[in-house]
Amino acid sequence: MLALGEWRIATDLVATRDLPRIVTPPVCGRRCPWCRNWALACAQTLPVFLLEQLGRIGVDPPRPTDLYKFEDPDRVSGLIAHRVTFHAVGKILSGPALWIEFERNARNYVRPPGAPEGLGLSLGSARQVPDKHSWEREVKGPLIEIDFRLPVPWVLTEPVPER
Ligand SMILES: [Zn+2]
Repeated sequence: MLALGEWRIATDLVATRDLPRIVTPPVCGRRCPWCRNWALACAQTLPVFLLEQLGRIGVDPPRPTDLYKFEDPDRVSGLIAHRVTFHAVGKILSGPALWIEFERNARNYVRPPGAPEGLGLSLGSARQVPDKHSWEREVKGPLIEIDFRLPVPWVLTEPVPER
C-alpha cells in the first residue's frame, strides 16, 4: 500500500514503469514548448514529497500522459495554471471521491497537506473518466488516472507561446 496525497493505492511497479511503452504520449510527442517546459519545471513545481510518492509508484514526473495549460500566465507571479495527467497500473484503496456530487462532471481536486496553494490532485480509476482513452487492453491490470491542477513556472529561455 502506497500513499499519494490523500489516497492509498496498491500499484504494480513493473507494469507502471512499462506504461510509457504502451500508452501514447501527447500528440506533440513531448516536443512542444509546454511539454519541454514541464519536463524541466516539474522538479521545482511539485513538492518533494509528491515527487517521492510518484517515484515509488513508478511514475516519471517529467513524462506525463498529457498536459495543457488552462489559464494565461498570472500577471504578478508569471505562473501558468496547468492540468497534468499521469497513469499508473493499480487500484485505489481509499481516498477522496473522484467527482463532486452536487456539481455535475466537476472533478474533486484535493490539495495534499503540505502542498502549495493552488495545487490540486485528483485520483480515479481510468474507467470512471469517460473523456480519456483507456489502454487497459494492452496494459495488464486496471489503470489509475492521476490528475494535477497546479501553477507551473515558465523556465525555458524561449518566450511563452501565445497559445
Ligand atoms: Zn506537448
